[in-house]
Amino acid sequence: MTSDDARVTRNVMYPSFQELVPGLLDSKIKADDQLREMQEDAAKIRAYYSPRRQFNRWKQSDDGVAWKVAQYTHQNGCCAMCNKAIECKGSHIDHIKPLSKFPELATDLKNLRIACADCNTAKGNKA
Ligand SMILES: [Zn+2]
Repeated sequence: MTSDDARVTRNVMYPSFQELVPGLLDSKIKADDQLREMQEDAAKIRAYYSPRRQFNRWKQSDDGVAWKVAQYTHQNGCCAMCNKAIECKGSHIDHIKPLSKFPELATDLKNLRIACADCNTAKGNKA
């Protein structure tokens, strides 16, 4: 039995390993490229659904804008942290329980309050 005979099964001629190598390398390169593209897509999807991005989308939505105006009125136009009178425009929405530690509360209204930029930024820098 010659090596050529071993490659023939049911009259099908299989290529030799050496003949397969360029195709295998090409397939590996394509598979690696596809994997890299899928990983990039997965990273984009993860970023899209990140708590911060979810919160930002909500904040810019009609619901978010309406909530802020109502909450500002509810807080009598004052920062929830230092109690100073603030403008609604330019005020920050503060996560009482920080977003970094409680991502599930990103858009939980019970976890949100309006704060002045100074208070919210100072808190953010501590976290
Ligand atoms: Zn404040």
